[in-house]
Amino acid sequence: MAESRRFKGRSTTAVHSGEPSPSRGEAVTPIFQTSTFYFPTEDPSTWEGKVPEGSYIYTRWGNPTIRAAEDKLAALEGSERGLLFSSGMAAITSAILSFVGKGDHIVSVEDIYGGTFSFLRSELPRMGVEVTFVDSTDTGAMERAIRPNTKLLYLESPTNPLLKLVDIRAAARVARAKGIKSLIDSTFATPINQRPIDLGVDLVAHSCTKYLNGHSDLIAGAVLGGKEDIEAISKRRILFGGSMDPLGAFLLIRGLKTLAVRMERHNLNGLRLAGFLESHRGVERVHYPGLSSHPQHSLAESQMSGFGGMVSFEVRGGRRAAERALRSFQVVKRATSLGGVDSLASMPLNSSHSSLSPQERERLGIHDQLIRLSAGIEDAEDLEDDLDQALS
Ligand SMILES: *Cc1c(COP(=O)(O)O)cnc(C)c1O
Repeated sequence: MAESRRFKGRSTTAVHSGEPSPSRGEAVTPIFQTSTFYFPTEDPSTWEGKVPEGSYIYTRWGNPTIRAAEDKLAALEGSERGLLFSSGMAAITSAILSFVGKGDHIVSVEDIYGGTFSFLRSELPRMGVEVTFVDSTDTGAMERAIRPNTKLLYLESPTNPLLKLVDIRAAARVARAKGIKSLIDSTFATPINQRPIDLGVDLVAHSCTKYLNGHSDLIAGAVLGGKEDIEAISKRRILFGGSMDPLGAFLLIRGLKTLAVRMERHNLNGLRLAGFLESHRGVERVHYPGLSSHPQHSLAESQMSGFGGMVSFEVRGGRRAAERALRSFQVVKRATSLGGVDSLASMPLNSSHSSLSPQERERLGIHDQLIRLSAGIEDAEDLEDDLDQALS
């Protein structure tokens, strides 16, 4: 039996939820490093593909270590069930393909993770699924784009790299009213800073590679939602094969236990560095939802309980100046990815958004001199000093 009590606090939930009761007094959920499980006594032919709750057959279908991580994540997100995958992309693509088929239509916000954008723009049309992209900040445009054959409203908030926000409550209301599913990629926020299910969204996806694991040493993804939807997605996980491995689930559980305390520091560092950068003469503009200069700051305050460690800023002096600053960072390391204890920075121009044409980037407002910073959990003084020497 898993720990199914609901706790008041998110740290307690992060530490204790989902953990199965020990079979030999172990303090930590073991790694069930096994591909298969002996059949329980009943005749397997009577299950008709449905494995009884608490039983396991084969690790691609499910595994106790993976289930413990799923239950912990579901408790944090406030969802009925969770489902883990071998990557964020496996989670997102399996979830989308569970609800659309040939002849269907998706409405998606346009500021989304590059991999998801390529999947929606290039892969789904090959399967006969149409996608309309709309401005992330325009709920009216989402509503107008919905057609009789629309099955899914796809959202991401905050967005990468400009930290724009979707009005999650309003978007979820539109989807409900039109009778279509809503799915949000909430990777940048984590369940500590934002709980989309409480705001009315059906399904939440995460790249667990980022804040949820938090140590830049694992690739994983998750989808959270109601039992029925998760069962539908679970069927695709079994068939498409994007299942996670038990060792990865163990690492994720270990990372999740410190999620709430890590996010406190990410939130503090993000806010402090955003303020520091905003007043720095080497910086033209800062994008951070926690700043009062952010055009959606009041929306941020109404749907987020913290603003995270992602800060994007435009360096004065154009692309060359930004490249020079990036090369000069010492504490902050140059790498793609985000959400780890270590601060990382990259330029969307030549990393996350290099597959877009200069015109597409310009239209989205992703300028050449933009640096995307993932503030880690180091001391803010050291990070400020590093940014200051690199920008001066
Ligand atoms: C990294 C990321 C993904 C993809 O996750 P992987 O674990 O790399 O497959 C999806 N969405 C967002 C917002 C991300 O940052």
